[in-house]
Amino acid sequence: MDDSFFIRGPGAVQLSAADIEERVRALGSEIHNDYRGETLHLICVLNGAFMFISDLVRALDTPLTIDFLSVSSYGSRTESSGEVRLTKDLDQSLKNKHVVLVEDIVDTGLTVQYLLNYLWGRNPLSLKVATLLSKPSRRVVEVPLDYVGFEIEDAFVYGYGLDVAHLYRNLPFVTSQKD
Ligand code: IMP
Repeated sequence: MDDSFFIRGPGAVQLSAADIEERVRALGSEIHNDYRGETLHLICVLNGAFMFISDLVRALDTPLTIDFLSVSSYGSRTESSGEVRLTKDLDQSLKNKHVVLVEDIVDTGLTVQYLLNYLWGRNPLSLKVATLLSKPSRRVVEVPLDYVGFEIEDAFVYGYGLDVAHLYRNLPFVTSQKD
C-alpha cells in the first residue's frame, strides 16, 4: 500500500508513513536523552494511540514498561461536554515510576487534562505527555505537552491509529477527511 493510492482515495495525504517514521524516531531519541537510562513507564491511551506507541517503543533505547487505559468522552467533536470517563483502568501501579502518557491527538485538551489529574493522583515520580498530533487552535484548556509529533491545523484526521467510525486505523499515514 503506497501513499499515492490514497491521493485518489478519501482525502489528501498530510503526513506520509515516512514523515511519521522519521518524527517518531526523533521523539524516541529525545525521550531517551531526557531520561538518561531511567526505566520509563508508558501509558497508552486506547484506542487511538496503539500504533504510535508501538512504533515509539521500538524507537526507544530505554528500559520500559507499558500499561493501557481507555477513555470515552461525551459530546460531539465540535461540542465537547468536557466529561471524560475511564472505560479501562490501568493494571499497574504508578508509584515511584517515571510515567509518560502517550496520546494520539490533543484537540480541546480536555481528555489530557482529565488524565493528568487522574494519573497525578496515583503518585508517579514524574509525569509527562507525548502526543503524535496536536491541534493548538482547538484548545479549550491549556495542557502541558512535552513531546509533540506534529502540530496540525483544525481538520479531522484519520489513519495511523486514528479512526472515522472505527475505520481506517490501519492506514500507515495520517490524512484529513474530505468535506
Ligand atoms: P480532546 O479531549 O478534545 O483533546 O480530544 C482527544 C480525543 O478526541 C483524541 O484522543 C481522539 O480520540 C479524538 N479526536 C480529536 N480530534 C480527532 C481527529 O481529528 N481525528 C480522530 N480523533 C480525534
